[in-house]
Amino acid sequence: MRIELKNFKKTFGDITVIEDMSLSLESGEMLALLGPSGCGKSTTLFAICGIHRMTGGQLLFGDRDVTLVPSQQRNVGVVFQNYALYPHMNAYENIAFPLMIRKEDRKTIEKKVSEIAALVHIGELMERKPAQLSGGQQQRVALARALVREPDILLLDEPLANLDAKLRLEMRSEIRRIQQQTGITAILVTHDQVEAMSMCDRIAIMNKGDIVQLSSPQDMYQNPNSEFVASFLGNPP
Ligand code: ADP
Ligand code: MG
Repeated sequence: MRIELKNFKKTFGDITVIEDMSLSLESGEMLALLGPSGCGKSTTLFAICGIHRMTGGQLLFGDRDVTLVPSQQRNVGVVFQNYALYPHMNAYENIAFPLMIRKEDRKTIEKKVSEIAALVHIGELMERKPAQLSGGQQQRVALARALVREPDILLLDEPLANLDAKLRLEMRSEIRRIQQQTGITAILVTHDQVEAMSMCDRIAIMNKGDIVQLSSPQDMYQNPNSEFVASFLGNPP
């Protein structure tokens, strides 16, 4: 689905974190929000999923204005860096949870969960509780839980940050494969430029609450429009 954020403003009390930010995603596009810690990436995701109210501006999911729609009434899939799986539930119950809340019938839930589990390659792990899964497997479960409701948009906040280097590499291509196979519109928040470059169709570089450049990875790399962008892309951590 096409997603548009217009003139987004966010303040916390006296502090203005985002002054006036606009961003749109084409249907099926995966966009990276890339920038240093504290620049406002998570704040932007929280506004899109509805955890935080926007101080100003407008948010559209397709033609639907969701600016004032509560979080539970938006169809958004979210994966955070710490997975946040329910520890007392097994993988199946974790993935089924968003559908149980919507009171879908048991047969439909079973079918949807098994389809998404197969896509994410965790079909044989359904009985396990989070503590019995590796970091990468937990993250796959979190991804399946986010996708099972067929969300309008998938939001990924530093999803690879807690993984070791080898798993991070594997999950980069896995997340991209799953995004492309489902054709879902997605935003990946990261402070890792290699991650953004290798996984996304376009990159929005943020600094201090503002998008300073938005283009394809190749174009951004070849034609950075400022010292900030050049140095940010040029100095891998
Ligand atoms: P990022 O995800 O890019 O690291 P955040 O969006 O989490 O950055 O935060 C952007 C800025 O907003 C930071 O300066 C942070 O301290 C501030 N901020 C975030 N949440 C709150 C809050 N609830 N109250 C006050 N300031 C906040
Ligand atoms: Mg953040």
